[in-house]
Amino acid sequence: MHWDDSVKVVKGIGDKTAGLLDKLGIYTVGDLVQYYPRDYDRYKDIVPISTISPGQDVVIEGTLAARPSSTKLRNLTIVNARLKDSTGSIKVTWFNMPFLARTLKMGTYYIMRGKVSYKNDSFVIEQPRMYSKQEYYSGRNKLLPIYRLTKGISNNNISKYIQTAVNTVDFENDYLPAKYCRENSLYSRTKAIRSIHYPADRDDVIKARKRLAFDEFFLFLISLRRLKGLNTNRITTDAYRDSGVCERFIENLPYKLTKAQLRVWNELKTDMMSGCVMSRLIQGDVGSGKTILAAVALLFNYDNGYQGVIMAPTEVLAKQHYESFDRLYKDTGIRTGLLTGSMTVSAKRKMYEEIACGNIDVIVGTHAVIQEKVIYNRLGLVITDEQHRFGVRQRVDLAEKGDSPHTIVMSATPIPRTLAMIIYGDMDISVVDELPAGRIPIKNCVVGTNYRNAAYKLMVNEVRAGNQVYIICPMIEDSEDSDLESVEGYEKKLFSVMPEDIRISILHGKMSASEKNRIMEEYVAGNIDILISTTVIEVGINVPSATVMMIENSERFGLAALHQLRGRIGRGNRQSYCVFMHGDTGEENIKRLEVLNHSNDGFHIASEDLKLRGPGDLFGIMQSGELVFRYADIYSDSDVLMLANDMVKSMDMDKVNELMETYSYLNRYRIGDENVGL
Ligand code: ADP
Ligand code: MG
Repeated sequence: MHWDDSVKVVKGIGDKTAGLLDKLGIYTVGDLVQYYPRDYDRYKDIVPISTISPGQDVVIEGTLAARPSSTKLRNLTIVNARLKDSTGSIKVTWFNMPFLARTLKMGTYYIMRGKVSYKNDSFVIEQPRMYSKQEYYSGRNKLLPIYRLTKGISNNNISKYIQTAVNTVDFENDYLPAKYCRENSLYSRTKAIRSIHYPADRDDVIKARKRLAFDEFFLFLISLRRLKGLNTNRITTDAYRDSGVCERFIENLPYKLTKAQLRVWNELKTDMMSGCVMSRLIQGDVGSGKTILAAVALLFNYDNGYQGVIMAPTEVLAKQHYESFDRLYKDTGIRTGLLTGSMTVSAKRKMYEEIACGNIDVIVGTHAVIQEKVIYNRLGLVITDEQHRFGVRQRVDLAEKGDSPHTIVMSATPIPRTLAMIIYGDMDISVVDELPAGRIPIKNCVVGTNYRNAAYKLMVNEVRAGNQVYIICPMIEDSEDSDLESVEGYEKKLFSVMPEDIRISILHGKMSASEKNRIMEEYVAGNIDILISTTVIEVGINVPSATVMMIENSERFGLAALHQLRGRIGRGNRQSYCVFMHGDTGEENIKRLEVLNHSNDGFHIASEDLKLRGPGDLFGIMQSGELVFRYADIYSDSDVLMLANDMVKSMDMDKVNELMETYSYLNRYRIGDENVGL
């Protein structure tokens, strides 16, 4: 079985299953083998029934106290039974599994696992999973992989397919020499992939992850190198001249630029006047005011007779930038244009024409600005906002649009300079390390779920005062094998506790792009009071009347991701509140969250996060959307990033090309959302 074969060659996978796997982005055997667990489970110790309480996920054993009963409620079949051990008994319930009424036998021994809840005056476990004694005891000391699922595929199914694939696929040779692996304590590729699915213990997972992170970084760095042709020298270009228009523009802003903003503006100006092509990263914490720098740079570019473009990662953000630029440029003569994927074909065509003949000076848009059909007219400056949402590929595509235009990349991801220098290749780096004065600091709290009612009250009060609320959940929908809060589950919960006139909506990544846009626009317009969302809202949007954010299961997110999320509030002149709510979790997790309570500094937060988590201790932590990597984490795997960088640096382009040709699987690795194969 080959890496590139369709999944259908795997025993047990037919057309129907293949269709379901498609939804998970799994098309080939290689995809399947590289579908790594999102977490691990361990069979817990069996506890006496008398000791359990609601909310716990427990494993109990015993015999059925009576014959199971089966009732029908509308089109739902409910099977009830009672499991008893020597200390007590508990009700167990299954839905739509009528056959259990026949197969479960009174007096027979069972092991069951599930979440205890309290309903109609008694404890109950709904939909418990059942194990045979042998199955349970043999799995007790193992880490069992948990995969991301889609409706129609169970964890058991996918585990089986992966196991079959891992056991039969031809892994081909490792591109890393065995000697190199030995010297740098890296697993071989085969061992890493096997261990990540079926680890012997925790240590095995950590080592496997390390090797997978290496591969991911390595391929990222190689593609960066191939695409950017890092060996080429700086290209020279027309040196820009300073007519003073930008200084006047800055003078007329309703606020004074911070010292940091002025310093970075000077760096940009110096670059563009140098006669070499600028390639610069502007790094600055959320709210540090990067957008205005983009606006000034684009004005400078315009004043020198060139067209400019800024690309934002979402439609809503693009529209927001467009509107604010349009306002800012009102007395400058600049003609702005918006170009996004959701525009009608004819509107797009019209915009293409306007751009091509130079009737538009500053184009604001989404990925649509890198479409082949867009032909620019004297493109001089290209800016990507919130870079972390794009892959290297898009960054380069945009830069290649014109004839070596100046490029600026803006990012709020706080990474140490040494790492930034690697991740951003040969870019120069500017840092906006100061927030505008006069912001009212956000009030934070880290609390358990018993604080929910108080939080709901706060939300109602804020909404009554004309403000808006975000609630963030880690999951989209409730699932059997997870206790995490979900957007859909939360919507139901809120409908029952919130006053009827409060307008509640949801937003998540499975919604269509146009639906997401519509919701986000409604929120920006103030037509939604409470928005329940996954982390999709994290990117740069500016809603000054959003004053409350509550993040459920905040223990599951990386601190840097939480900090980015929090950056969505506290953007106006009103007091804002951020509630970091955690589920049942350990001391260390709470201590970690406390960092956010005491600091608003992205760099400090990221470094504390790393200290408190320790390497390899991030399983189940979501750094969602923050970085392009799928599996590696630039913070906790920074040593691996350096190692991969050393290796890539030591290779010349011929060697790189030879490697990619010899090991064809390298061309089909995936990093983030982007296919790295060239
Ligand atoms: P980010 O760096 O996260 O992209 P923005 O550019 O969106 O931040 O700026 C956040 C808010 O701060 C905007 O409303 C912007 O108008 C405002 N702002 C930017 N610079 C200053 C400044 N020097 N003084 C006061 N407000 C500013
Ligand atoms: Mg921004």
